[in-house]
Amino acid sequence: MNYKGILLDLDNTLYNYDVAHEEALTDTLTLFSKETGLTFSDAKRIFSLAKKSNHIKLHGTASSHSRILYFQRMLEEVGAFDFSLTLKLESNYWQLFYSLIKPEPFALEFLKEIDLPKCIITDFTAMAQYNKIIKLDMDQWITHLVTSEEAGVEKPHPFIFTLGLQKLGLKASEVIMIGDSYEKDCLGASACGIDSILYKGNSDLEDLSKGIHPFNSFFDIIHWLE
Ligand SMILES: [Mg+2]
Repeated sequence: MNYKGILLDLDNTLYNYDVAHEEALTDTLTLFSKETGLTFSDAKRIFSLAKKSNHIKLHGTASSHSRILYFQRMLEEVGAFDFSLTLKLESNYWQLFYSLIKPEPFALEFLKEIDLPKCIITDFTAMAQYNKIIKLDMDQWITHLVTSEEAGVEKPHPFIFTLGLQKLGLKASEVIMIGDSYEKDCLGASACGIDSILYKGNSDLEDLSKGIHPFNSFFDIIHWLE
């Protein structure tokens, strides 16, 4: 393949976001229950409400994913807002999360072996993504980063892809986007004239005509790109 650069999603593409999130959240909700005297199932219900209200209020922005805003909202909801406790929940979540994340199989080999500039395009706040990339030991192989906090919009908005192309100094036809979300990563890229790889997702023949290529492993992606 004759691409000159790669755009890359981070969460659930380069590492196991879902696994780390579920475990870190369960542990943090257990801490929330202990601190507030509420049951774990109440904590779960209040978390869902807090997350939902944050998503509605801040739809399309990086802050819609902010853990500290979720935990603050939860404590406000039960009349137990406290600065130290909000920070305690936030740091409990992230410390455990960072300790659990692992690169996807062959993701590190992909970063090392595909000798092209690589820009992460990710929907999240910047600080968390810096911490994840460094914890995953991927920073030395990634040349650029665009977060939705920086872009002010989230995928599939074209502006976030345009920022990535600008940072790489490349045209849409010269890069390929790799991500696990069909709507956000692949259709977002297609709308900008960028080919894409759908990681671990289902796609059909019509998708190929849009330049969307399904792959289940970075091992296969390496060989396809080489
Ligand atoms: Mg993703």
